Amino acid sequence: MSRFPDVPREAVIKEDLLRGGLAFDDSALSDPEGGDVKPKSYFIFSFDHRTLPELGTAALRRPPEEIVLTGGPYDLRRTVVSVRTNPDSPYRVGTDDDGRMRLHLDGRPIADVGLPPMPNYYRHTLANGKSVMEVAPTIQWGYLIYLTVFRVCQYFGAKEECQYCDINHNWRQHKAAGRPYTGVKPVDEILEALAIIDKHDVEKTSTAYTLTGGSVTSHVGGKTEADFYGQYAQAIEERFPGRWIGKVVAQALPRADVQRFKDYGIQIYHPNYEVWDKRLFELYCPGKERYVGREEWHRRILDSAEVFGPRNVIPNFVAGVEMAAPDGFTTVDAAIDSTAEGLQYFMSRGITPRFTTWCPEPTTPLGKANPQGAPLEYHVRLLQTYRAIMEANGLTSPPGYGPPGPGRAVFSVSSFMDSLPATTP
Ligand code: SF4
Repeated sequence: MSRFPDVPREAVIKEDLLRGGLAFDDSALSDPEGGDVKPKSYFIFSFDHRTLPELGTAALRRPPEEIVLTGGPYDLRRTVVSVRTNPDSPYRVGTDDDGRMRLHLDGRPIADVGLPPMPNYYRHTLANGKSVMEVAPTIQWGYLIYLTVFRVCQYFGAKEECQYCDINHNWRQHKAAGRPYTGVKPVDEILEALAIIDKHDVEKTSTAYTLTGGSVTSHVGGKTEADFYGQYAQAIEERFPGRWIGKVVAQALPRADVQRFKDYGIQIYHPNYEVWDKRLFELYCPGKERYVGREEWHRRILDSAEVFGPRNVIPNFVAGVEMAAPDGFTTVDAAIDSTAEGLQYFMSRGITPRFTTWCPEPTTPLGKANPQGAPLEYHVRLLQTYRAIMEANGLTSPPGYGPPGPGRAVFSVSSFMDSLPATTP
């Protein structure tokens, strides 16, 4: 914090929690159903530093989806942090003698902790008994409905899966634990769950939905990737026109496919480029390299900006994997330089990428080799660099992420929104 006084303190703590995880005393865990606290839904990846069997009580009685930090010795403004469980983290959430829940670092309290209330719509089930949390969980303090409609990826095995991704493992571990975990979510179930949310979210906190899941290299239910994800977009927008900001996270698809998303009513397209460096993309994303290729991927991102408008194309990258051993950059300077080059490439064309903070999940090749993730200095300098390049290109925070600024942001899986100026989006 003292080395980087221009980066909000809230963002520094949040990045450290996201990259290294946090532990929970049993008193801070909730019951999966029927409790007062919104539980972690495992909405796509595990985002944990241990497998479910290794998490013990934290797997049976779930941790919350997110926590909100305030006050404490750093006088933190309201900061929403996605929960990534790590029993060995120096950060621990527990209830103090005065009955208040706090975040401790090496045993020292550093912030008050608020837990997300169980939303009303989570208390209802679909006609077939499935929970809304399983079919249409919400994250970002209720702002975003996260629709992982395809819970596995057709890039499968060491030669195809992205080296930081545990989507397929997460599916296997939930199945093995006997948890409900639908591989392909039927369109009707999605519509039914959304109707429950629409009815009970009377304050209209839910503002956007994301359609996503694994890549489709052949077919799912006889449909190609664009047809498969497009059918949900079409059905949602026909049933609830304009109720939410529709987003799709899919591969960088050919222009005609992207146009179909737009025609169905999708407003924001996320063709994630994952990591900028050419050599690392080839090593870390072998499936994407083989089926599409980095240059073509980037070309399609630029094409999609002509369909959606550059503001509405928001490709993600996984911040931190650039520094993963054994192939990543060995200095923070080199990693930041490379990532800055990618940011400038897109931002100079009006496209605003965004990033999630890498969680080194233990069943992925990169997580296994780098259980500590990337250094905090990298993450803090990335926040500085991201903001500087955004401002140099005359851009502001991307649409569909809620308000920017410390104390206001709700985006929970990186602190890029917490570290931008507090302007109206
Ligand atoms: S394309 Fe890569 S990051 Fe995306 S789900 Fe498949 S393996 Fe994971």
